[in-house]
Amino acid sequence: MSVLFNPVTAPLIQGALRIQSRLRNITRRDGASGLGNNALSARGRSEKAGEVFIVGAGPGDAELLTVKAYRLLQTADIVLFDWLVDQSVLDCIPRHIEKVFVGKRCGKHSVPQQEICQRLVELGLAGKRVVRLKGGDPAVFARTCEETAALTEANIPFAIVPGITAASGASAYTGIPLTDRSVAQSVRLMTAQFQNPEKEADWASIARSAERETTVIYMGFKRLALLCQRLKENGVDANMPVAVIENACCNQQQVIAATISDIVQHVAQANMTGPALVVIGHVVNARQSVSLELLNQSYEKLAI
Ligand code: SAH
Repeated sequence: MSVLFNPVTAPLIQGALRIQSRLRNITRRDGASGLGNNALSARGRSEKAGEVFIVGAGPGDAELLTVKAYRLLQTADIVLFDWLVDQSVLDCIPRHIEKVFVGKRCGKHSVPQQEICQRLVELGLAGKRVVRLKGGDPAVFARTCEETAALTEANIPFAIVPGITAASGASAYTGIPLTDRSVAQSVRLMTAQFQNPEKEADWASIARSAERETTVIYMGFKRLALLCQRLKENGVDANMPVAVIENACCNQQQVIAATISDIVQHVAQANMTGPALVVIGHVVNARQSVSLELLNQSYEKLAI
């Protein structure tokens, strides 16, 4: 396994680890975790209180992890991770830490959400220090509330560590701004995975704002034709720019920019498979030519 050494963050991480280990020694001697010891009182629980960290892994490139996320990954007993977590992030987890894939892909739920919740609760009750690693940010289309509700019910302390959501990552790595003030005053993050297929998005409202708003659609790639059709039906200009960004922030990133009238055709020719984001709005034409080489260059320079 290759472990990257980052001279900027390493001293921070080492300092944080030292403080954390001191804190742990103090709190463990008292029989409580730093996050409270409610979990100790119930019957059938481990002596040691478990704790769960729901951590954002960002959209790809491991260097986009927060320092806090990185630190937690070094000190977990076990990491439960999703399919969207990039291999470069998994490579940051020390070998001795157990890693469990609990992926769900495009509606194909290999591990049902309820089972994931149950697993988190069991591990918490067993006194484990758990990292639940999710792609992007846990607050954005990540079903975090189902997991935190289960943990709350079981009285297991938990915390949430934010990550870079795919929209922010894709914006930076493609140069497409989310709000260029000359063309967009707001951003709408929406999912195309409608819980009730009968109840689609509020297309009329999206269409009304389209001239001054950027819409970023998660889980919309497979429904691109339907999305474009709905926008046109609701009066959006047929020349409205749209970009599809596949594997944002990863080595295989691909971007296709066109209009809502011809994007489907362009995407079909490119053989994209996802994961991908759909960005709709005039910001697509305000794209800046960012240098991905610069980002990769700094990665290589920092690695030992
Ligand atoms: N919590 C995640 C979103 C999970 S929903 C976040 O904050 O980013 C899963 C959807 O996110 C995918 O279907 C895709 O639309 C989008 N996505 C996640 N990572 C991506 C990436 N690296 N490139 C493009 N789209 C991505």
